Formats: sequence, C-alpha cells, structure tokens
Amino acid sequence: MPNKLNIVLMGPPGAGKGTQSELIVKKYGIPHISTGDMFREAIAEKTPTGLKAQSFMEKGLLVPDEVVISLVKERLSKDDCKNGYLLDGFPRTIAQAESLTALTKEIGRPVQSVILITADADSLIERIVSRRVCPSCGNSYNLLSKKPHKDGICDNCGHELIQRKDDTREAFSTRLDAYKTSTEPLINYYSKQGLLGEVDGLEEIEVVFKNISNLIEENN
Ligand code: AMP
Repeated sequence: MPNKLNIVLMGPPGAGKGTQSELIVKKYGIPHISTGDMFREAIAEKTPTGLKAQSFMEKGLLVPDEVVISLVKERLSKDDCKNGYLLDGFPRTIAQAESLTALTKEIGRPVQSVILITADADSLIERIVSRRVCPSCGNSYNLLSKKPHKDGICDNCGHELIQRKDDTREAFSTRLDAYKTSTEPLINYYSKQGLLGEVDGLEEIEVVFKNISNLIEENN
C-alpha cells in the first residue's frame, strides 16, 4: 500500500485537479473531498450552505473561510476518511490550512502529501472555456482534450453535460486573481513543512497521473 494517502491536491483553476482526482480515487480507493463539488450540490439542493456560497461562486470569488471550514470539518469526521482522503480545492487560504492542521490532528490523519499541479494562465483560460461537466455524477470533460464519446452526454452516467457558470472568461480572471492572492502563499507554507511535491499540469493526462502516483508512492 502507498505511504501517503492523506493528500491535498492544489493548483490554479483549470490545472486539471478534477480530472486527476477521478484517477487518484479510483486507483487508491480513498474518498474525494471536493469543496467545489460540495458547494455545487448544496446550491442545487438549496441548503443554507448553498445559499451562502452561491453569489461568491458565480462571480469566481472565494466563499468565506468559516463556511468552507465547517463543511470540511463535518466531512472529514466521517468514517470513510479513516484510511485516507483526497482534498481537492481545499485549503485555499492560510486560515483554511491552519484549520486543516487542527482538524486532521483530531482525526489522527495529518496531511502527508500536498501535490501542486502547475500550469500557466494562457493555457488555463482555453481549458476552462472548453470544459464541460456532468451535473449528475461530477465527471469532467474538455472539448479539446477529453471529449465525451457522444457529444454533450456524460460517458459515465448518460446525463446531459453543462458548462459551469464560473467557467466564463470574466469569472476565470477573478478566480485566477483569488488563486494568486490567497492560495499561492500555501505553496511556501507547505514547502517549508517538507510536504509539497509538484507536477507539470500541461503534460498528457496519463503522464500527469503517473507523476502524481510516483509522489504518492515514494517512501519519504
Ligand atoms: P472548484 O470547483 O474547486 O473550482 O471551486 C469552485 C468555486 O467554489 C470556487 O471558485 C469558490 O467560489 C468555491 N470554493 C471551492 N472551494 C473553496 C475553498 N476551499 N475556499 C473558498 N471557496 C471555495
């Protein structure tokens, strides 16, 4: 069994976190905790958390820390996280990272590996505007690099694909600013703790995944 199954996946919007997450959870059998997906579900179900998050998300702004932290706290306390977890899109601020340290200590599963998927802004915008997602099972596709077998239909569950409201050029630029201002400082934060590993997100999907697997399976 690999050594490092308490994983945080980081990277700018469009770097491929969702696609790589699908592959990681399939290979290692750990739960995929995507705060973005959890908010999208909460919005669809019109829960109090969804109502709090919706306006921030649609503009591409970060949802306030306290809302995100309480969502993750509840999720990490579930039994399926006992053998590891993949956090995708959390933490995104230093305050979230500090809370995560405390939360993971409580459950006895401290973060062991922070994987940063890198990519430059110009490549990201093209990926973002050509992204399509399945609102039912969450699978994600790309009209340029990862087309569904049948146009507009999810390979996994047959549901019609949609374009996310925050996958416009305007919201993307806000999301990229939020990443640079609030999330990039985490690179230094985790690097100082010796937890950070980097992979180039502009390689082919399979190559990126191989590099991520190597980071998860390495011994120290
Ligand atoms: P994602 O699916 O990870 O791209 O997230 C979509 C949107 O959800 C973000 O642009 C934020 O508005 C919100 N969101 C997801 N995760 C977080 C987080 N950890 N902190 C604040 N906002 C978040």
